[in-house]
Amino acid sequence: MRAETMLSEVRAHHFIDGQFRPGQGERTPVINPATGETISAIAQALPMEIDQAVAAARRAFRPWARTLPKQRAQALHKLGDLIAQDAEAMARIMTMEQGKPVNEARGEILKLAEACHFYAEEAVRVHGEIVPNDQPGFQSLVVREPIGVVGAITPWNYPAELVGWKLCASLASGCTIIIKPADITPFTALAIAAKVQEAGIPSGVVNVLTGRGSVVGQALVEHPDVDKIAFTGSSAVGLQIQRSCPRIKRLSLELGGNCPLIVAASADLSAAVAGATRRSFRNMGQICIAINRIYVARPLYEPFLEAFGKAAEALTVANGLDNPGADCGAMASADALEKTKAHLEDGRARGARLIAGGAAPIGPAFARGLFFRPTVLADCTPEMLVMSEETFGPLVGISVFDELDEAILRANDTPYGLAAYAFARDLSEVHRLSEELDYGNVAVNNVDAGIMNAPYGGRKQSGVGCEHGREGLLEYFNFKHIRLKYGP
Ligand code: NAD
Repeated sequence: MRAETMLSEVRAHHFIDGQFRPGQGERTPVINPATGETISAIAQALPMEIDQAVAAARRAFRPWARTLPKQRAQALHKLGDLIAQDAEAMARIMTMEQGKPVNEARGEILKLAEACHFYAEEAVRVHGEIVPNDQPGFQSLVVREPIGVVGAITPWNYPAELVGWKLCASLASGCTIIIKPADITPFTALAIAAKVQEAGIPSGVVNVLTGRGSVVGQALVEHPDVDKIAFTGSSAVGLQIQRSCPRIKRLSLELGGNCPLIVAASADLSAAVAGATRRSFRNMGQICIAINRIYVARPLYEPFLEAFGKAAEALTVANGLDNPGADCGAMASADALEKTKAHLEDGRARGARLIAGGAAPIGPAFARGLFFRPTVLADCTPEMLVMSEETFGPLVGISVFDELDEAILRANDTPYGLAAYAFARDLSEVHRLSEELDYGNVAVNNVDAGIMNAPYGGRKQSGVGCEHGREGLLEYFNFKHIRLKYGP
């Protein structure tokens, strides 16, 4: 199907109880950040529609939980196949609403398809335990049961994957789900719902509601019939969710980061430069695990700055629909662009040295979009915003160090604990960095901290719980202890 047809079919609709229903609430335009043009509109979900979606998910829960894992796995495999078949159209929708180049968006859609197959395989492997008892004639079974109705609230930077991990885990575990995607990237989620419908997944198992987080997201947090909130987004909203949840419910919070890279004296310089370039600027730095700040050992400092500056300048920035293979597209929102500029100005005012970028690209193609050049600041100090706060944009700060101890101390000196990176070849440096970086994910001599079959989550203000892997799936289950007396 063409992206434009898909978009027009879901315009201002919610997906409730297996059907696309025209929303009754106020319309809000959705803008293409590369051109400033309106691509379509969403409807703000009303309390009545939220209740309908929750009621549908509740009705669907028991039958879905009782469906054999093998059948749920088949549904997930089918969903994965259908998503992969329509990856091109879904990718174009994502580029239109989010700004990332089409090739990157297609990659994300295909990773979502892979996630469907991964969770399908995991669905049939969830099992319990038999626990020894201290009296004869008893047996204790520890079994896992799906939690129930999940409210999934997601951000705009990875509109397919961050919806997908929650959706796949719900489908695999036997939970049902109501998804509230970010208001600026709602159509990727609605396109996924169209695939859920095509896959024949029973009505009510998956629902999508669009609208403002403070209204629709908050309503799911407060709803008495939602058993778990699976949230990915900023630490501020995560904290607001934790504070405002009026009843005991399961929360998994995947929050912001402020991720360091340490380039130790023994590092392979060119590998470190390639890694820093990829993980600082991919998706315009709008990644929770983007490298925000870099600490480089003094002997490598100037060579690193020179090579990294050149690599950043060489990245192509373009409208991702016109140039699907561009390295970077438009930023997704004006707020994100403003924050990037504010962090840049703060750094420069405090004496940082501009090594690359520093302004929007020039030309008519960029005139109305949210574009900025990948930007590198050197000689940064700890109090600069670029070093202490998550920028969530194409800006990275660099500072020099003499002792590895000092670099580790500065890397850990943050309320966040999502991901950290290090390049080193000396075995003792590798060992120390792996052990002492206080983060949920540590990548050494590479910058891909997350893989599908290992748990991915933050610590400290970066959240609780995890996604991916067996551990991520188990977040969708409750334990039950069944103590049987079978003897005299
Ligand atoms: P955000 O917190 O502003 O919004 C996330 C979602 O929460 C959106 O759907 C929004 O509508 C909703 N929301 C807003 N207020 C709400 C409320 N009061 N109650 C319920 N829902 C509400 O985040 P964002 O700007 O969309 O995304 C960027 C942030 O997400 C960054 O901080 C980034 O680090 C983080 N992030 C974390 C991960 C991770 O895995 N840890 C992954 C991606 C993004």
